[in-house]
Amino acid sequence: MEIIVADKYGFCGGVKRAVKMAFDNASIGVYSYGDIVHNEIVVSDLENLGVKTIDDTDVENSKVIIRSHGVHKKILDELSEKNNEIINCVCPKVEKIYNIVDNFYKKGYNIVIIGNKNHPEVIGINSYCDDNAKIISDMEDLDKLKSIDGKTVVVSQTTNNVDFFEKAINIIKNISKDEVLVYNTICDATSKRQESIRQLSSVVDAVIVLGGTKSSNTKKLAEIAKINCENVFLIQSINDIDINIFKKFNKIGITAGASTPDKVIKEAVCRMENFDKGEMMEAIDNSFKRIRKGEVVTGEVLYITDSEVMVNLGYRSDGIISRDELAGGPDVNPQDLYEQGQEIDVYVLRMDDGDGNVVLSTKRVADMKVWDEVEELYNNKENITVTVKSQVKGGLTADYNGLNAFIPASHVSIRFQKDLSKFIGEEFETEIIDFDKRKKRIVLSRKNVLQKEVDEKREEVYSKLQEGDVIEGTVQRLTNFGAFVDVGGVDGLIHISELSWNRVKHPSDVVSPGETVKVQVLNVDKDKNRIALGLKQTTEKPWDVFTNEVSVGDVVKGKVVNLLDFGAFVRLEQGVDGLLHVSQISREHVEKPQDKLSVGEEVTVKVTDIDEENQKISLSMKALIEPEEKEEVKQQPKERKPRRERKAPKREKRVEEPKQDEFNMTIGEMLGLNFADANLDSDIIADEKEISKNDEASNEEVKEEVVEDVNEKEEATEETVEVEESEENTEE
Ligand code: SF4
Repeated sequence: MEIIVADKYGFCGGVKRAVKMAFDNASIGVYSYGDIVHNEIVVSDLENLGVKTIDDTDVENSKVIIRSHGVHKKILDELSEKNNEIINCVCPKVEKIYNIVDNFYKKGYNIVIIGNKNHPEVIGINSYCDDNAKIISDMEDLDKLKSIDGKTVVVSQTTNNVDFFEKAINIIKNISKDEVLVYNTICDATSKRQESIRQLSSVVDAVIVLGGTKSSNTKKLAEIAKINCENVFLIQSINDIDINIFKKFNKIGITAGASTPDKVIKEAVCRMENFDKGEMMEAIDNSFKRIRKGEVVTGEVLYITDSEVMVNLGYRSDGIISRDELAGGPDVNPQDLYEQGQEIDVYVLRMDDGDGNVVLSTKRVADMKVWDEVEELYNNKENITVTVKSQVKGGLTADYNGLNAFIPASHVSIRFQKDLSKFIGEEFETEIIDFDKRKKRIVLSRKNVLQKEVDEKREEVYSKLQEGDVIEGTVQRLTNFGAFVDVGGVDGLIHISELSWNRVKHPSDVVSPGETVKVQVLNVDKDKNRIALGLKQTTEKPWDVFTNEVSVGDVVKGKVVNLLDFGAFVRLEQGVDGLLHVSQISREHVEKPQDKLSVGEEVTVKVTDIDEENQKISLSMKALIEPEEKEEVKQQPKERKPRRERKAPKREKRVEEPKQDEFNMTIGEMLGLNFADANLDSDIIADEKEISKNDEASNEEVKEEVVEDVNEKEEATEETVEVEESEENTEE
């Protein structure tokens, strides 16, 4: 900053003289009529010495100082009449004007004074022509002046503006019909100061005009300075202004009004010079925004490149945001985020990047805002939707508006999830189960959200489900003991025994995951959270189908599903099993069913008996064999008679045993088969019926054959019991 003091400034000779006289006479009991000069500092100093300022003539027998620009003549007369000693400090140049006016007024000249009609100097001058002067204060007064008759003398206020004075003279001369005498009584002290500031103001950035705000010449200096410079400061003292406002100017001009003491000017120059040195630097430093690492401050975008954004922080150094630290992420072009001149909030990462730039981040600012947001959500117990980013040890990481969150494996789902990687990229609605802003920790649970949904659905489902309802569901998963089916957001279980009317080895034999099934609600236990479902209940019972479609004597097809010593079980098309007793396999003797049949073999059989009460079916292949084949068979019963006599008592004894009956029943049930049991009596009856039906001309031989068959069945029964015991042990 350059400080330039005007060539001419401060006290003029008249003021300097007046101030000196005043201070020389200053003491208690001394009065000053009006301010000695238009400068409060000087007036204050005199008051400190005991000089009182008055604006009337009431004082008597005192010393009264008359200011440099004079007073009305009658004031002097009154003060003198009251025996006051007049300390006349009127400037000799003003005294000279008094004489001109007084002299020409007495000669009959018109007196014209160019100056401020309210200024004490003009009032004083006018008093020397009995207050008859025409006073031209401004252009308005000039416009009103149409003509002047008679000889005229024109004088000026000593502190008048030269330009205005000359303009006024030209007009007066033009409208005057007589002689016009012009006395340019403008004090050159004033004009020199005006010219000096006119030149100085054209080469500086700012002008400081020092002087009293009531001082006419000081105000005129400021007005002239403003013609060339827009930054003009009229102040009484340099202490009246914050000098920091000058830091933006390179050149500053200083001048002072004619009534401004030298010490005021020296003080101003000294302050500005110091300001220009250390104080200026300190002021500049103080003007910089104070920023610290970790703060969020506001800056203005200076310029943007593809890799960074430069920011003016109002700090001594500019800030720089690298692409990685931009709020939009490194993949976003910085040009798309901000524009030059935009105000943005930035986070101070480091005070210096090595090149003198402050390292900034808008990403951090965005993160901080998100942290605040998450904290509020956490406090309000609100859920957040996140995107799964990756699988880590113990769970998943997820992103929420740029923040990292953790989902423990146990909170990913309601059910155990072996493979968590399948969730990567998915969006989860989650509950915030742990939050620590300071430690930057967010822990989420999707499981809690899902569980809540399930609970709500369960409530709804349980309120609607009634035992016996037939509903649709979707098979979710299979276990060894059954199938779980989604029935509207809640899983119910179809036990393996409820899947089919027939025995099922594994649920997958009947249903598969994803399959839509119609099930019947068997039981609803809300307390234990269990819904028992049945699939087979939605289908007709095989036995009912069978009895509707098949009658005794019908020939049907079936498949051998099991072979035992006493016979073969054949599954018919309707899904029920019938017993093909060993004696009914062929007309010829069959030792074991395996000798004639094999599991899986399709056979054609005749229904020889249907026991509806016990749901048992007796079958026969023998009944389908041509009669002539029986001739060979007829010979056999006779040879076997002794065996029948031997076996009969034993069979009766064993059949009567309750255990044996139960045993026979239990094996059938354990096999899960609906078959007609190997009831010997029924078989015998069946055989008898068969014989009766097929050979009406029955004879004793045939009857003996039947008896022989009975003996064989009794024998087979004994073997069957033994075999069944063995089978049961095997099953268990
Ligand atoms: S400005 Fe001129 S006339 Fe006024 S007091 Fe100073 S020297 Fe005298």
